[in-house]
Amino acid sequence: MNVGLVAHDTKKKLMQNFCIAYRGILGRNSLFATGTTGRLVSEATNLNVHRYLPGNLGGIQQLGAAIESNSIDMVIFLRDPLTAKRNEPDIHEIAKLCDTHNIPLATNLATAELLIHALDRGDLDWREMYK
Ligand code: PGA
Repeated sequence: MNVGLVAHDTKKKLMQNFCIAYRGILGRNSLFATGTTGRLVSEATNLNVHRYLPGNLGGIQQLGAAIESNSIDMVIFLRDPLTAKRNEPDIHEIAKLCDTHNIPLATNLATAELLIHALDRGDLDWREMYK
């Protein structure tokens, strides 16, 4: 499965720790991330991460295009709700596309953990039918 990863700046360390903790599961899937998130995840885990441009330079739009073209199966977007004004447009855009295309989206750690276990159990295998 193709997993999209994005973390706002204040959540990047959390994303790194999440990916270290679930390195085994993530390593059996393909990872796609906005530029900085992708670099930090691959530095922390040594996993192969396909990196889009940095989020503010078009990476969010690249991830969005991948969702629209049905090539992303789930998204973990660790958002910072406290600096909402500045960060709102990108999470809003990704959430809209995920909802449009029925793609599972986690925006906090608790949901990310549920989704990663679901991914590992094969709960998202129905996605293969859409490809
Ligand atoms: P980044 O993008 O991973 O390149 O920082 C995410 C964001 O725009 O917050």
